[in-house]
Amino acid sequence: NGSVRVNMQNVDSPLQIFVRAKKKINDIFVEIDDYVKDAVTFMHAVSGENGIATPQDMGNVESYVSKVEAIREVLKRDHMKVAFFGRTSNGKSTVINAMLHDKILPSGIGHTTNCFLQVEGSDTNEAYMRTEGCEEKLNVQSVSQLGHALCATRLQECSLVHVHWPRELCALLRDDVVLVDSPGVDVTPNLDTWIDKYCLDADVFVLVANAESTLMVTEKNFFHKVSTKISQPNIFILNNRWDASASEPEYMEQVRTQHANRCVDFLSRELRVCSPKEAEERIFFISAKEALLTRMRDREKPVSSPILAEGHQVRYFEFVDFERKFEECISQSAVRTKFAQHSRRGKNIAGDVMAALDRVYNIATEQKAAKVEKQRILHEQLSSIEEQLTTITRQMKDKINRMVESVEHKTTTVHNKN
Ligand code: GDP
Repeated sequence: NGSVRVNMQNVDSPLQIFVRAKKKINDIFVEIDDYVKDAVTFMHAVSGENGIATPQDMGNVESYVSKVEAIREVLKRDHMKVAFFGRTSNGKSTVINAMLHDKILPSGIGHTTNCFLQVEGSDTNEAYMRTEGCEEKLNVQSVSQLGHALCATRLQECSLVHVHWPRELCALLRDDVVLVDSPGVDVTPNLDTWIDKYCLDADVFVLVANAESTLMVTEKNFFHKVSTKISQPNIFILNNRWDASASEPEYMEQVRTQHANRCVDFLSRELRVCSPKEAEERIFFISAKEALLTRMRDREKPVSSPILAEGHQVRYFEFVDFERKFEECISQSAVRTKFAQHSRRGKNIAGDVMAALDRVYNIATEQKAAKVEKQRILHEQLSSIEEQLTTITRQMKDKINRMVESVEHKTTTVHNKN
């Protein structure tokens, strides 16, 4: 199926901004790693007894090896994170499934869990789930198995369950997007704990609202809390179940305008996270259920196929439009928040190592200069000794000559007398 393949390749997806930036910064850290290790080898060569590098220089440079390794580890695991919130049954799991082009999370009545589900790419090609803080991997092949496993595992309220799914099955997972499904904001009063535990590092928040009713106080409160803890969070609002509007077409525009105005007002005036104009770009009227069905059919997955309601194509296009804007937003935000920090640290490390090498180089230069000066002084001393020796020798020679002459003179005089 051509359309699926194009979708899975995803070469022009805005997520590539993040994917490419991640590759680039990883490559740079490989170079920094080499540089630091070379510096350590050099320090070893010039330290020790009579060496120019002190043990302190040595330790200083060596400490960067583990620092660089730690950053490289973090970099490998860096991802883009989106968290979904809303009241129970608004369709959070269905939205996630539609975005992943497959039924991965259990949805519908009987599957409400009070834990957080984090869907992420699996490093092996297997699907498995794992509870936070526990190493055990539980293989899951299907949604129903996952649903059963979630019910069977005794989970603490608000715990986190990782669902690892083969990367090549979903473009989003392959491009390092992690999706977090939450219990409905109506089921627990522990909003603060949630935000602290699972949301502080989210790049984007999606509020899945029900287009059949108006935004609820509980939903609004949750985002009020979020915006006190995170400066300028990126929030999208999905008015889901918009397929319901098809049954009352005469009111559709009116209802849509009413919902849209309230959402714009909420984001721009209440939360003050963006301007009214920006807010308009963050609000969508969709049907996750239809989007998921359309995609399951595209992948030739067996689905019960009810006839989709009037206007389903328009709603589907709006869903695709949401995904595009979401991808742009999440990749730019993640690059800014995650990589800016790494590149600052990389620059500092390279600068520090260079300073340490500079210091050793300067010491070596000073020592060389001192040696040359010493040689010069020695040379001067030798020359002066040499001069003195020449003078002494000459004087001695003169003296001896004179002595010889005087002796000779005396002997001649004695001889003549005789
Ligand atoms: P969650 O509790 O927010 O995760 O909600 P679910 O995704 O489990 O959805 C609850 C129920 O609503 C399921 O039976 C879905 O099939 C249904 N549902 C989800 N999205 C839509 C939609 O856009 N239109 C309609 N008609 N039903 C939907």
